[in-house]
Amino acid sequence: MNAQKYSSQKADYCPPLPDGDFYRIVNILDNSERDILKRVRDFMEREVSPIIEDYWVRDQFPFDLVPKIAGLRIGGVGFEGYGSAGGSMLLNGFISMELARVDSSIATFWGVHTGLAAGSIYLCGDEEQKHRWLPAMMCFEKIGSFGLTEPLVGSATSGGMTTTCRRDGDTWVLNGEKKWIGNATFADLNIIWARDESSNQVKGFVVGKDNPGFSVKKIERKMALRVVQNGHITLKDCRVAEADRLQNANSFRDTAKVLRMTRAGVAWFAVGCGRGAYEHALRYATQRLQFGRPIAGFQLVQDLLVRMLGNVTATECMMLRLGQLQSQGLMTDEHASLAKAFCTVKCRETVGYARELLGGNGILLDNHVGRFVADAEAIYSYEGTREMNTLIVGKAITGLSAFV
Ligand SMILES: Cc1cc2nc3c(=O)[nH]c(=O)nc-3n(C[C@H](O)[C@H](O)[C@H](O)COP(=O)(O)OP(=O)(O)OC[C@H]3O[C@@H](n4cnc5c(N)ncnc54)[C@H](O)[C@@H]3O)c2cc1C
Repeated sequence: MNAQKYSSQKADYCPPLPDGDFYRIVNILDNSERDILKRVRDFMEREVSPIIEDYWVRDQFPFDLVPKIAGLRIGGVGFEGYGSAGGSMLLNGFISMELARVDSSIATFWGVHTGLAAGSIYLCGDEEQKHRWLPAMMCFEKIGSFGLTEPLVGSATSGGMTTTCRRDGDTWVLNGEKKWIGNATFADLNIIWARDESSNQVKGFVVGKDNPGFSVKKIERKMALRVVQNGHITLKDCRVAEADRLQNANSFRDTAKVLRMTRAGVAWFAVGCGRGAYEHALRYATQRLQFGRPIAGFQLVQDLLVRMLGNVTATECMMLRLGQLQSQGLMTDEHASLAKAFCTVKCRETVGYARELLGGNGILLDNHVGRFVADAEAIYSYEGTREMNTLIVGKAITGLSAFV
């Protein structure tokens, strides 16, 4: 009887196109901004989606894509001048989401390069330095990395950084190690944060890949964001000219300005990662038949889909408001931290539901969702873990610091 009922529905069953933007949030943007998003989406679906699983499995980065990413003209969205694409930080957020909707590794490559690395120069360099480095970075001729985390000091870098710098005439001598540094295996310019031995303050340096005393080893065998090339950097009596020290980075407070901006970007990645997983799951549910009908027609499967859509919609609404605050220059550290903590928790939940919906096929990379599940783990922990971001918000709302 049920099978008959389905076969009579089947003739007219035309599944709606999966679209995670249930509230039409994108309509907040103007036509020219939506054109940019369309350009990014077309590129991600046409050029990245078909090949990325293969690169993920092989732990390799698709270098051929870099000139094409440059062609999207999304270097430095939200910055002004120095060859940047311009536009608002809200648009930057939507682009972050579009990239991660298809692949979080490509999103991370872009975020590390244009956000963390170029952003450090934009926020902490002087005029001469910005003119010297940013135009080549904005068009992806020179790629950047950002070295803050160390093998023994992750969450505690603000007070416990062990990499040191010592002034010697017109140069500085850097010693220490940096771990997890995205793009570092091939980056031309590496932002290195180090503690000044004399003042104890954190300073930032732009270190070239061929600088004597600078070496990088690729971190192998990751189970998340495998396309991102993370490096373990060693600095051994690495000499850097005073002219290459970021002139407006005088303490960790300046490093934190960069992190505030990029933390919001990672929260947008979480929305995109959840949204991509939801759309894959919805498409699968309308095509997969069990008991003679699409599993999308079962109540418990619809429950999973609606939970996912609720998470995606709630986090995107949150990010819309955060992006507005950011564009108006009103976003605080605790605003960004709440979004990063909340959106990554919801992303992790969403990708888990998507995997559940695909049954056994959910762990096959060919069905995409497995990659989203794995990559969500890295998004959850990098740029400040949930715990660290919680402590930042906790301090703001109680007036009491629970940091040790
Ligand atoms: C794929 C990937 C890419 C990355 N890219 C970069 C990059 O490009 N540049 C860069 O500089 N770094 C990068 N990182 C590093 C990332 O920012 C750190 O992993 C992150 O800050 C956490 O540090 P940790 O891994 O050393 O964890 P730890 O600091 O050792 O923390 C381990 C656990 O202890 C908890 N914890 C620590 N301290 C406290 C406390 N006081 N109270 C409560 N809980 C606490 C943490 O929340 C976490 O759950 C990357 C990491 C990954 C995984």
